[in-house]
Amino acid sequence: MRIIHAASEMYPYIKTGGLADVVGALSHALAARGHEVTVIIPGYRAVMESPLVKEARRTQELKVRLGNRELAGEIRTLAIRPGLTLQLVVREEFFDRRQLYGTGARDYDDNDARFIFFQKAVVEFMRATGGGYDILQAHDWQTGLLPLLLRNAEQRAGGTLAARTVFTVHNMIYQGVFPRSSFALTNLHESLNAMEGIEYFDQISFLKGGLMYADRVTTVSPTYAQEIQTPAHGYGLEGVLQLRSRGADAVRGIRNGIDTAVWNPAADKLLPAHFAAEKLSGKAVCRTALLQQMGWPEPCTGPVFAIVSRMTTAKGHDLLLGVVDYLAKKNCRLIVLGSGEVKYEEALLAQAAAHPDRIAVRIGVDEALSHLTFAGADFFLMPSHTEPCGLTQMYAQIYGTLPLASRVGGLIDTVRDIATHGEKGTGLMFRPELNDFVKALGSALKLYSNQARYAAVQQSAMRQDFSWESVVGQYEQLYNA
Ligand code: ADP
Repeated sequence: MRIIHAASEMYPYIKTGGLADVVGALSHALAARGHEVTVIIPGYRAVMESPLVKEARRTQELKVRLGNRELAGEIRTLAIRPGLTLQLVVREEFFDRRQLYGTGARDYDDNDARFIFFQKAVVEFMRATGGGYDILQAHDWQTGLLPLLLRNAEQRAGGTLAARTVFTVHNMIYQGVFPRSSFALTNLHESLNAMEGIEYFDQISFLKGGLMYADRVTTVSPTYAQEIQTPAHGYGLEGVLQLRSRGADAVRGIRNGIDTAVWNPAADKLLPAHFAAEKLSGKAVCRTALLQQMGWPEPCTGPVFAIVSRMTTAKGHDLLLGVVDYLAKKNCRLIVLGSGEVKYEEALLAQAAAHPDRIAVRIGVDEALSHLTFAGADFFLMPSHTEPCGLTQMYAQIYGTLPLASRVGGLIDTVRDIATHGEKGTGLMFRPELNDFVKALGSALKLYSNQARYAAVQQSAMRQDFSWESVVGQYEQLYNA
């Protein structure tokens, strides 16, 4: 099949979260199955300056109409591997900036123009390359209008650019909502600037566009597919989703995989030692290295808890702050890596300053330290209030680090609770509230004090198959259905 993925991020070229990991790994997995795969992303400054794309060649000049302006851009092309090509949409005005979506404090004011330009450039690229794609898969709000823009372009020019469109929701929280006046930039018929179209509480929503107009809608885990049809997780769009689900084309939940070329404790280049379920000595080396890097040279007899995550309320940093005092009194360590909302960064740094012998906090995005943390910790904390799929709990399990995960979304689909599965379990689960979280921490401390039982659960966790190879067939089925 000829498949084109349009997204705002792709690992290893540009990443702020799990979306990048998924687009990177899924496209490789599809290419490995013999499909002809194109991924198209914006040519952000960080991408254009990356040594990874220095071989990219200018292949197309394009013109895009945005309201009554006609804007020029270009396409740069990079062959990644047989069957997989990266296309970059370049326009300095929009993408030659320090960040992807905004300064830490607020989103860029022209994100509407930036991402409408990007999406129209994708359509233009598809037209210029002759169309005839089997699938256009669009990811998250930054590409939510694509199914609509694509069909609109086909109608105007005649012919088919893509036989079928798929829209994948990686997170319902981020919706791409803009003032109604932004609609003019789409050049779509004014009748779509209405409740039956992409209007959303007197604004417009890119995400709603994807949910309404794609031929198929998917999300990244079976449980999240159910949850987003309820008010608690639908963020105002549950009604739109319920409408779809009543038809034959229900929202499909396909759990994310993990890129085993990047996440494999037996071959991970970022670790000081390697290990596997049947040979764990390397994990102890990683643990010591991690403790030393945190400024704790002496051995630690209690468990090392860790969290690697964007610092937001959705990820449960409110709950994390709530348990710090409890952990500071126990024989254990807590390592926090992440960045995000300033209030959480500051509060966690203050906790580390108050308990330097127990708690270490590193603010920032640090790929190497994240790998060492997954490898060296004993338990991984994931107190999310909502979690579409989550990747880090899967990385943790494969690295023999047992997740303490809240009972929501994709965490339910990827962690087996020892409370119900005993030694066949792979982690501990709790309701995302303080009391239950503390109880789970207590159970984790108890489990760790019984090393034989801890090791048995660790084996169950490490022996799971979360690879993309194990799920890519579900996308093929969807593409063919
Ligand atoms: P989300 O996409 O909601 O942020 P996921 O669990 O799906 O959550 O993916 C998060 C990805 O970002 C993982 O690959 C994780 O390792 C990575 N990550 C998050 N914070 C950091 C950080 N501070 N340093 C390095 N990697 C990080």
